[in-house]
Amino acid sequence: MTILIDGKKIASQIKENIKKELESLTSKPSFAIILVGNNSASEIYVRNKIREAQNIGIIANLFRFSEDVTQSEITNKIKELNKDDNTHGIIIQMPLPKQIDTKEIINIINPSKDVDGFNPINVGKLNIGIEKDTLLPCTPKGCIYLLKTIEENLSGKNALVIGRSNIVGRPLANLLVHENCTVTMAHSHTKNLKDLCLNSDIIISAVGSPNLVTADMIKKDAILIDVAINQKGMTESGKHILCGDMDYNSILGAGIAKAISPVPGGVGPMTIAMLLSNVLTAYNNNSK
Ligand code: NAD
Repeated sequence: MTILIDGKKIASQIKENIKKELESLTSKPSFAIILVGNNSASEIYVRNKIREAQNIGIIANLFRFSEDVTQSEITNKIKELNKDDNTHGIIIQMPLPKQIDTKEIINIINPSKDVDGFNPINVGKLNIGIEKDTLLPCTPKGCIYLLKTIEENLSGKNALVIGRSNIVGRPLANLLVHENCTVTMAHSHTKNLKDLCLNSDIIISAVGSPNLVTADMIKKDAILIDVAINQKGMTESGKHILCGDMDYNSILGAGIAKAISPVPGGVGPMTIAMLLSNVLTAYNNNSK
């Protein structure tokens, strides 16, 4: 029987632990969210982050800018937040409009407040040596956490990461190397995805392509983590029906895999839990 990895439940336990840790603090950790424009998906993500933070006693301050915002308006706000001792974390909700140089924006966030883990200093730290207080990108960190609920020691496993984006695939591959996995990274130019999958003890897919990974591509006892969020239609009540990259039902039916994370309810809730954990880390780092 393939184990279902319940990201929602695991994320709630993490948030409960953070909540308990907050009780011993003299002040509340706080982070700022910069949201530009009216992207409906971004609105939902931001609303969820604020709600989850407030539920456990972390302050989330939202700073909204209109779609026609200038580069200097955003950089000025970040510089102000960098200096503000009561702001321990800063995140920029992506995507930003075309006129904004996203790289420059990420570069100017104080690395010690970069709770998304996207600033080059934190990316570099991830490459050359993670320490206890390093701010790691939330989704990859959440994936490793989920894997370890199934198998604590990942050393020596063949791990395949599908997708090579800066926010998921690349940092994830680095984290798996730190776990002593033998890592392969597949991307849009990869020719033999099925062969690579069949050779993998761990497959993590972050592409955005439904049914990219099917039951016939799974090695016995592989652990599968599905990061992708795809929309595959609407319910009668007008809600989006979501799915990942993996053909979840056929993989479950085949029963070959050791474990699989569902979409929704797998990696998604972990991303927010890891963000809140990073805010606490940033708070502790800044209070030293
Ligand atoms: P991206 O578009 O930046 O990257 C997609 C990657 O997939 C690219 O590296 C590309 O080379 C690769 N790719 C495309 N077609 C491929 C193919 N046929 N075979 C192998 N690789 C292929 O996307 P992203 O920002 O990394 O996000 C990936 C997915 O993860 C999206 O569905 C996104 O919604 C989801 N996501 C989920 C969370 C979460 O919290 N659950 C967080 C971030 C992203």
